[in-house]
Amino acid sequence: MGTLLINGTINNNQRSFKADILIENGVVKEIGNNLSNSNHEIIDVKGKLILPGGVDVHTHMDLDLGKYITADDFYTGTVAAAYGGTTTIIDHIAFGPKGCSLQHQINKYHELADGKSVVDYSFHGVFQHVSDATLNEMKFLVEDGIMSYKIYMTYDNKLNDEEILKVLIKAKELNAVITVHAENDGAIKYLSKYYAESGKTDPIYHALSRPDSSEAEAINRMIYLSEMAGYPKLYFVHVSTKKGLDEIISARKRGVKNIYCETCTQYLTLTEESYKKENNEGLKYIMAPPLRKTEDVEALWKAIENNDVDVIATDHCPFYIKEKLNGKHDFRLAPGGTPGVEERIEIILTEGIKRGISINILIDKLATKPAKIFGLYPKKGTIQVGMDADLIVVNNKKETIKFENRHNANDYSVYEGLEVNYVVETTIQRGNVIVHNDKLLANKGDGIFLRRNANN
Ligand code: MN
Repeated sequence: MGTLLINGTINNNQRSFKADILIENGVVKEIGNNLSNSNHEIIDVKGKLILPGGVDVHTHMDLDLGKYITADDFYTGTVAAAYGGTTTIIDHIAFGPKGCSLQHQINKYHELADGKSVVDYSFHGVFQHVSDATLNEMKFLVEDGIMSYKIYMTYDNKLNDEEILKVLIKAKELNAVITVHAENDGAIKYLSKYYAESGKTDPIYHALSRPDSSEAEAINRMIYLSEMAGYPKLYFVHVSTKKGLDEIISARKRGVKNIYCETCTQYLTLTEESYKKENNEGLKYIMAPPLRKTEDVEALWKAIENNDVDVIATDHCPFYIKEKLNGKHDFRLAPGGTPGVEERIEIILTEGIKRGISINILIDKLATKPAKIFGLYPKKGTIQVGMDADLIVVNNKKETIKFENRHNANDYSVYEGLEVNYVVETTIQRGNVIVHNDKLLANKGDGIFLRRNANN
């Protein structure tokens, strides 16, 4: 006996069409019209949209920054993901003790996620130092399904150009993906100190100390390093500016290969005006890179429509208001990050369709393309016969985002009051209904670890 979804419209990244879906043993068994309904549990989704389950490749669950730890662990954070229609996450993991191996942090994250996550999950490895040992380890980790790694151009564990080049050359050899946080460290360090020491301590100076040029310069430098390394797969996380985007677009035009571009919900919907909100409200929006100007938001949407942006993720990284308030006399002291794993699909469908972008392009950025880049396609990111039955049922109706209807663990939403036109009503993972009409049906630990293939 299987589950039969009838009367719905299936939406993939290429096209939308009316058909029924039969799910058996966790996979899509059949797609077609008038499928035999004997012995199957029937779910009538008349008038609703069926989409592939969301793939969010940029989250930070249980992120331990030393001084702060994110509000969500792998349980609360993935419950929020499930409510929002995301059935797979790839988490960007924390740095470990000084000098630790790559494997050390992967092991630690298995402990954090196993038995807790309600959606399927994987981890990006993270480089906090480059040595023969860490470079050699990559081969074994790639074989173990960790085919993507994060490097930082800023923060305490940033890599210098020589180290970056070494990592890129190794990645090319292994067909691994290098994801990069691209900001010019020296410039933002100096500017934030300069502003704070001149008494300019309000949240808006967080944005002013990380100007668009600091992102664009770092992106540009990474692109040239990737050319020197022979074009390994290079993925820019959370691209937030028109200038940064222009570097990527022009590099592709001159023939640079294998570069991918991610942006996030917040850079598509909010602007730096949020930092000017009174009563310390602006602190809630502190994140890196910061929120930008309307022209940046518009450029990012245009780039989605043109397929210059590959992925829309979230950088889900929530903290409590109390913690954010530590920055009330100095923006540098507020922990950076914001929740969003639950809101991504509903907001992006709403705002994207309002702008005339096809639902298929949006699905490509929300599910298909991230699955392809990170070694999960076609098992994840699409509705196809033989593949995992990860799918969501979306209703075209209005709902207002409020803190009270959120499910993650912190105490505010940056999208408070935003009205969405699309609501995820049912989330199905490997054939199991895990959320239905505002009820969580998954058990803690139902999500499984996904080994990802570098040669997909
Ligand atoms: Mn991040």
